[in-house]
Amino acid sequence: MRALTWQGRNDVQVTDVPDPRIELPTDAVVRVTSTAICGSDLHLYGPLTPFMTPGDVLGHEFMGIVEQVGADVKGIRPGDRVVVPFNISCGACFMCAKGLQSQCETTQVHASGCGAALFGYTKLYGQVPGGQAEYVRVPQAQYGPIKVPARGVDERWLFLSDILPTAWQGVAYTDIEVGDTVAVIGLGPVGQLAARSAWQQGAARVIGVDLVPERLAMAAGFGVELVDASQVDDVPAAIRDLTRGRGADRVIEAVGMEAHGSPVAEAAATAVTTLPRPVASKLMHTIGIDRMAALDTAFGAVRRGGTVSMVGVYGGAADPFNMMKLFDRQVSIRMGQSNVRRWSDRLLELLSQDDDVFGVETLPTHRLPLEKGPEAYKTFKEKEDGCIKVVLKP
Ligand code: NAD
Ligand code: ZN
Ligand code: ZN
Repeated sequence: MRALTWQGRNDVQVTDVPDPRIELPTDAVVRVTSTAICGSDLHLYGPLTPFMTPGDVLGHEFMGIVEQVGADVKGIRPGDRVVVPFNISCGACFMCAKGLQSQCETTQVHASGCGAALFGYTKLYGQVPGGQAEYVRVPQAQYGPIKVPARGVDERWLFLSDILPTAWQGVAYTDIEVGDTVAVIGLGPVGQLAARSAWQQGAARVIGVDLVPERLAMAAGFGVELVDASQVDDVPAAIRDLTRGRGADRVIEAVGMEAHGSPVAEAAATAVTTLPRPVASKLMHTIGIDRMAALDTAFGAVRRGGTVSMVGVYGGAADPFNMMKLFDRQVSIRMGQSNVRRWSDRLLELLSQDDDVFGVETLPTHRLPLEKGPEAYKTFKEKEDGCIKVVLKP
């Protein structure tokens, strides 16, 4: 079959790889009908290079039709339309029972000391072949795949795989109260859906920060007040100005380690992706290389006693948090991978309403055949051609 594979830093190609097949009784094989590129895939393209192997099949946002199931898979059968959560979880262990599917003890990757295995996401997360492919082997299929209605375009359901539950959890983890002002730093696909989830969860005001005009414009279309980081020197001050000098009650950081605006760290991150692999991977584990600009903005924008929820992915181990300031200001911080199945029943209900409450059908700006994947990665990374979200069709 054809699949989009990682070949090196900033280099992905569509190549021939072996067809997946059922290996365990809890497996399924899914024929992919739509698969999206995520901001997290850009980390593989750059900073997470030391943990990649040429030939790795990428992609963790996908849906399709079940082709085959193993003997222990009872909930889905061939012909069903399913969305597959990006974290692979068993549904039965201690962590899954606590709604912490991203920490599933059945699929945790002990070799690297990481949480639940993920599709298409480095050695650290199990090196499981991903979904930017014609077919995928889906482990733990007795629990993971979410059966969705046969009606509607793929784009209505596809984002249940990752960015919608991610955004939803990002808001839920702020312990939002009805009437709160929520600031969302970064208006990529995750930030856009975080803003829309904040409305659904009771926000009275949503303030969005980005520096790309079409991303700001998209958010404005959903009632978000804007701070354009390309025009404002001090974003936290701008947010305080909008909130009687206090700051936002809840702040969601939806940028991650590709943040613009931290030149020193940017140089370090580039160094890590160009150093010899063993040295680079050691460096990632021992020193902080992340670009902290967005996180600094989030910490500066939250009011005293408020909550910061980090959705953006950070990769280094010793980043220079201003612990003194955070402690003094009694800020709560929450973070982590989305526990997709914890939220998916509620989200499926909301998505099943006639009107598209999250506007997911119009989120993708680019729909392309899988064969155009390499171009699509470049366009998405460079934010060319108004690109906000890409869906590939194998
Ligand atoms: P994206 O790269 O499309 O979006 C990031 C946005 O942040 C861009 O619009 C960019 O212009 C903006 N930005 C950059 N620097 C900024 C700054 N200093 N201030 C304000 N805005 C800035 O990515 P995405 O797909 O929306 O994902 C966002 C983050 O969420 C990524 O780090 C991704 O890895 C992470 N993510 C986490 C999970 C999870 O489970 N926690 C799941 C999916 C994605
Ligand atoms: Zn993703
Ligand atoms: Zn589990």
